[in-house]
Amino acid sequence: MNVVGKPDGARVFFALSPGERCRRRLFAVANDFAARLGGRPMPKETLHLTLVFVGEVGLDRLPGLRAAAGEVAQATAGGSVVLNRLHHHPAGKMLWAASEHCSPPLGALAEGLRRSLLARGFTLEARPFVAHVTLLRRLTVRPPAGDLDALKNVPIRWRYRDFVLLRSRSGPGGSVYEPLGAWTLGGN
Ligand code: ATP
Ligand code: MG
Repeated sequence: MNVVGKPDGARVFFALSPGERCRRRLFAVANDFAARLGGRPMPKETLHLTLVFVGEVGLDRLPGLRAAAGEVAQATAGGSVVLNRLHHHPAGKMLWAASEHCSPPLGALAEGLRRSLLARGFTLEARPFVAHVTLLRRLTVRPPAGDLDALKNVPIRWRYRDFVLLRSRSGPGGSVYEPLGAWTLGGN
């Protein structure tokens, strides 16, 4: 409990966490861009693909989050996502890795989690799901168009079999994420 008698809270989100090989490749792309164009690469251990951003919740609601995750994990198979596009977002000064075509199973996983959370009374923003991995922040230079094709011929295929619940806390070098749970997807 905090001083006003409300349960302490946490900023949380569900995400896919890449395996080591995929993580290394994503980090290498981020470093390559940073070396040439500046910006701050996401630390290797924080690379992730957000499935559902939940935001601030009371710690007393963690069991509800875990119940939603367990239900969805049982009912949903693992799959793969192909990251073959890089996007620069000048306003956000970010570089993302994303897919040219949305993977329907991945969309279904994100949507399943969303529905299960809504059914348990969680409030979520109505933003559409866009599968992406943030690689670089504070990128103030516009990358040459050809650079954004870096994954076109050598896409990163990410096979996922589980997902995680992460707590985000701001640290001096950017946000750090603390794992609060991990679920293996069924049907593998
Ligand atoms: P920072 O905000 O300190 O720069 P961050 O964006 O990594 O770092 P959070 O803001 O806690 O940390 O976000 C955690 C994850 O959730 C990130 O992948 C972020 O892109 C995503 N996210 C944050 N806010 C939203 C939102 N409103 N809707 C969808 N995704 C979000
Ligand atoms: Mg943020």
